[in-house]
Amino acid sequence: MPNTAAAQRACPFCEIIRGASEVSLCYEDATALAFMDIQPVRAGHVLVVPRAHYERVDDLPRAVGLHLYDVATRLIPVIQQVSGTRDMNIVVNSGAGAGQDVFHFHVHLIPRAAGDGFDVPLPFPGSEMPDRTRLDAMAARIISAMRDPVAHATPAAAPS
Ligand code: 5GP
Ligand code: ZN
Repeated sequence: MPNTAAAQRACPFCEIIRGASEVSLCYEDATALAFMDIQPVRAGHVLVVPRAHYERVDDLPRAVGLHLYDVATRLIPVIQQVSGTRDMNIVVNSGAGAGQDVFHFHVHLIPRAAGDGFDVPLPFPGSEMPDRTRLDAMAARIISAMRDPVAHATPAAAPS
């Protein structure tokens, strides 16, 4: 859903931001806030969220994205300290096909420990190691698209 008034009314994070629902806030500034995930992987699981409603990573203005990264890097050592672990996953799910459930962009900061049962399984066990020529061909396509400003346009939705 785009950044419309209807999208914002239906959005649980916009509801938090306008003070209409309960939240355990751990950081805020004019552009971003961070709060405890309601169903944490482990104690200390934080979501870093822009105040404005952007759905996906490619909807975010670059300055907002950089700011969220800056906030995340300031929170990470603090979360490590209070949760007593240095191991972390930094996760963004952008789009339903990538597992996004709340369609207000957010960055998960997830403290981890061996045996906690959570996993981001990479390399993906269901994938193969492609031939080097295929890796090189994809790298070349990306290099060429980076040089072409048209290639930076938001990709069209995949046909369903
Ligand atoms: P996603 O799959 O969209 O990346 O993850 C959404 C995350 O938001 C989940 O980890 C979920 O527990 C968390 N979440 C969903 N609704 C709320 C809420 O109302 N408050 C808080 N604090 N977290 C929420
Ligand atoms: Zn929202």
